[in-house]
Amino acid sequence: MLTDQQILRIPGPTPIPPSVNRAMSQPMIGHRGESTSDMISDIRPKLKRVFGTEQEVMILTGSGTSALETAVVNVVAPGETAAVIVTGSFGERFAKICEAYNIETHIIEVTWGEALEPSAIKEFLQEHPEVKAVFSTYCETSTGVLNPIAELASAIKEVSEALLIVDGVSCIGGVETKMDEWGLDVVVTGSQKAFMLPAGLAFIAASERAWKKIGANPRPRFYLDMKKHRDNIIKDTTPFTPAISLLFGLQQVLRLMEEEGLEEVYARHRLMMEMTRSAFNALGVPLLTSGEDASPTVTSVQPTDFEAPVFRKIMKQEFGMDIAGGQQHMAKTVFRIGHMGYCSPADMLQAIAAMEIGIAKAGGAVELGKGVRAAQEIYLNEGKR
Ligand SMILES: *Cc1c(COP(=O)(O)O)cnc(C)c1O
Repeated sequence: MLTDQQILRIPGPTPIPPSVNRAMSQPMIGHRGESTSDMISDIRPKLKRVFGTEQEVMILTGSGTSALETAVVNVVAPGETAAVIVTGSFGERFAKICEAYNIETHIIEVTWGEALEPSAIKEFLQEHPEVKAVFSTYCETSTGVLNPIAELASAIKEVSEALLIVDGVSCIGGVETKMDEWGLDVVVTGSQKAFMLPAGLAFIAASERAWKKIGANPRPRFYLDMKKHRDNIIKDTTPFTPAISLLFGLQQVLRLMEEEGLEEVYARHRLMMEMTRSAFNALGVPLLTSGEDASPTVTSVQPTDFEAPVFRKIMKQEFGMDIAGGQQHMAKTVFRIGHMGYCSPADMLQAIAAMEIGIAKAGGAVELGKGVRAAQEIYLNEGKR
């Protein structure tokens, strides 16, 4: 096997386009100089389009979790009650952050592998009018579920004034997000998933309503103070030294997304999801999520006649291909394939063909070529490329 080849098919970090790697290797520049301001000024409107907002999208230096914590400390005032929709381990993270700040938190538990029904959040809020903020993942990376965020937002608004805070770390940039139109109050993402960058940047935007709340919130905060970040970004700068190399990369990523066209980017992700799902359906290997709940960025598979960890080990040894395991109670029963960011239908044909061999070697019953063929048919029928 080639020792210097690895094929990263996990739901983050994801592969980095060569032009983005080249952009990131540019010589260092001063963060208060004109070149940095010019770069931020070029980045700002493009980031807003990805978020679907007219609001400022702030750029933090930190992994995705730094933006989750930023959302919690800026939006929830001391003494207020929050609710967290937990559809998997990343929903749990929001709950843990709230608990770390001693915020009274209700957990809305959903079976792993399923999305939350909008009617459920409505009923919950009718019973709990004290809730001031609802936290939800958009794509729940641990299961590959895409929560119906637009529907959840309108269900919440029918019965409550609570703000909706959305963790879109594993899908924004790969899945359409219309923050303003859907009425999302805070939207957060990170750099190492659909944004095709290394970890190290996090992005956060807030609605008009949320900004009112943030302005009046006396909870102490410093590095993660959103007001400081907004006061600076509107002047094309940041309150602290930004990760300049990552900004070089981000500028190129946004160029690439606009060259392809955001609609095309989203269609490519849906196509890769369909190809992957149809391959496993054809092979008779069960998927964790229903077609309706599935995310275009990550697919979870729950095999019955072979062991997921054995399969993953074979994929790594034979092909240098990283496939993610399940998380927590699903660690040994599920594997997850990332298909987001710098990933194409051709990459998925490669992955599916290799996975058929991995399944066979792990002891699963497969008819070789059946998954590839199903994916090819999806491509021919749906892909107009
Ligand atoms: C990856 C991820 C995060 C952020 O994790 P970090 O390791 O802090 O970057 C948060 N939420 C979701 C849904 C994720 O997939």
